[in-house]
This record gives sequence, structure tokens and C-alpha cells, in this order.
Amino acid sequence: MIRNFNYRRASSIEEALSLLEKHKEDYKIICGGQSLLILMRQGLVAPENLIDIKSVEELDYIEYHPKSGLKIGAATTHRKIEKSPVIKKHFPVLAAMEKNLASIQTRNWGTIGGNLAHGDPAGDPAPILIASNATVRMASAEKERILPLEDFFVDIFETALEEGELLIEVQIPVLPQKTSLAYQKFNIIKNHQGIVSAAVSITMDEDGERCKGARIVLGAAAAIPLRAKQAERLFIGEKFDTKLLERVGKKASEECDPVSDIHATETYRRILVKTLTKRVAKKAWEQAKTSG
Ligand SMILES: Cc1cc2nc3c(=O)[nH]c(=O)nc-3n(C[C@H](O)[C@H](O)[C@H](O)COP(=O)(O)OP(=O)(O)OC[C@H]3O[C@@H](n4cnc5c(N)ncnc54)[C@H](O)[C@@H]3O)c2cc1C
Repeated sequence: MIRNFNYRRASSIEEALSLLEKHKEDYKIICGGQSLLILMRQGLVAPENLIDIKSVEELDYIEYHPKSGLKIGAATTHRKIEKSPVIKKHFPVLAAMEKNLASIQTRNWGTIGGNLAHGDPAGDPAPILIASNATVRMASAEKERILPLEDFFVDIFETALEEGELLIEVQIPVLPQKTSLAYQKFNIIKNHQGIVSAAVSITMDEDGERCKGARIVLGAAAAIPLRAKQAERLFIGEKFDTKLLERVGKKASEECDPVSDIHATETYRRILVKTLTKRVAKKAWEQAKTSG
């Protein structure tokens, strides 16, 4: 049962920040409620004040600029990202990921900001966004700051958001030349969260022969979305071959730190990490060779 709470609805960022400041001692932000309401119903979270930001139109936008890249307001729904022509054109992997995230009902109401702020290591957007070198903009009544998304996740269901802070925007820079990004999750039930997921970004040198940069980010393979940095390093300066892929997959499976739970054992997850990393990296590599 949900415990009684005071409901406050903000209609602007300014109003939201002042409500957060006023109720600093005991509040919870709610946007789409797709994650929070489950926790409240289970009695795991029982805030005195619930601050609703769903009507803050200033937080609902998708903007693209050829130099600065993509900016997505925190209250933008998954469905809007999935359907956005700009995202389909410039970050097709993001639109494709959204299409496989939850049901249409959840995508219609759940938001990108809520997904990231929830801090679930199995969330779909984080691995792709970290592989894209995304940053997040946060604000409180006192200050504003920007953080690489990679540093936003602190522990399971714990983020770098401080008391009184609101997640405002996700920023994705334009991908470097000859870069491609791929993502895949392994799930048993369609559109459910992945048992494990992997996002890989590969940047080729000018000739399209050797790898110049790589980012491998794993979902549900540790307490936070995890960059497999040792595996990434194996790619640098190398030409593509299947033995290299094998080594990279193996390293990623050693580097991750998965748990055993009702969905899969730790061992099974490590095997999945190896397979998915190889598969997704191969796809990113092949695409990067031919990309502009
Ligand atoms: C049936 C079901 C299936 C799902 N399947 C998937 C899936 O396949 N893949 C996946 O990635 N996710 C999945 N999800 C999770 C879903 O994506 C998230 O629940 C949703 O995106 C959260 O957004 P929200 O706006 O509803 O957040 P809320 O539930 O309103 O909030 C979630 C958390 O974020 C905080 N918060 C929200 N907005 C902000 C903000 N702007 N600034 C600071 N804190 C904020 C809240 O305080 C709360 O702690 C699923 C959820 C359900 C219910």
C-alpha cells in the first residue's frame, strides 16, 4: 500500500527547483512514475513530498545541431525518442533501442530522465549513451553542473544526483568521423530488460583499416553500466580479425562483475557478455569501415 504523501506539481524548472529546495529533507521527484510507483507500492520508498515534473514543458524537447549534437530534455518520453525523425537520422541506434524498451504504454509515459535517474544497471539507454560519450546536465536552486554520464552512476540504483538536484538534459556529441555504434540486449521476453546488454562504439583511422578508438559498455553486468576498458584497449591500433574479437569478448567477460539472480547466474551472464561483446563489436566495426 502507498503511504500518504503531499503532492506538489511544478509547471516550470524554476518552480521545481524551488519545491526541491523547500522540501529538501524528504521528497521524491516523480515524472512518468513507471519505476517510482512500483517502489512506492512495495513500500520501499515512502516520501513525505512527491514533486511532479511531468507538466514541465521546458524539460520535454529534442534538439539537434550539426556542431554540438543532440540534446534531449529529461522529461522526454521513450516513445518520442523512438519516433523522432532527427534521432532516426543521426542516432538510429538510439531510436532502435527505444523501440525494444518495455511496452508502448510504458514508453508513452516513462522518460529518459526517469530511466537514468532510477539508476537501474539493466536500463537500456545508459550503455548506448555512455558509448556515445554523453553528458548530463543537472541543476539545483544553487548551481548547475554537467557530468559525463559515465560518472553519473554510483552504485546499484544510486546516482550522482545530490539533494535538491534535478536532471535537466542529456547531451550527446556528434559522433567522430568513421565512427559507428551498435547495441544489443539479450532478453528472454520481448521488450523486457536485458539479462545482459552491450553497446560498442568503434572509430576507425582515416584509411578505414585500423581501430583508432573504442568504447564497450555493458548493461546488467555489474552494479552500474560498466565500461570494459581493458577490452577496449585491445582494439586500439589493430586490424579487424576474428581472433581479436575473441580476445576482446573474453576480456570483457573477465572484466565485468555480474550477480546471480532469478534471471541468470553469474557464470551465464559472463558467457553472455563474451558472446554479445563479440557480436556487437563486429557489427560496429563493419559499419564504421564504411561510415563517413
Ligand atoms: C513493465 C515495465 C517494463 C520496463 N522495461 C524496461 C526495459 O526494457 N528497458 C529499460 O531500460 N527500462 C524498462 N523499464 C523502466 C522504464 O524505462 C522506466 O521505468 C522509465 O523510463 C522511468 O521514467 P519515469 O519518467 O517513469 O520515471 P519515474 O518512475 O517517475 O522516476 C524514476 C526515478 O527517477 C527519478 N527522477 C525522474 N525524473 C527525474 C529528473 N528529471 N531528475 C531527477 N530525478 C528524476 C525519480 O525520483 C525516481 O527515483 C520498464 C518499466 C516497466 C514498468
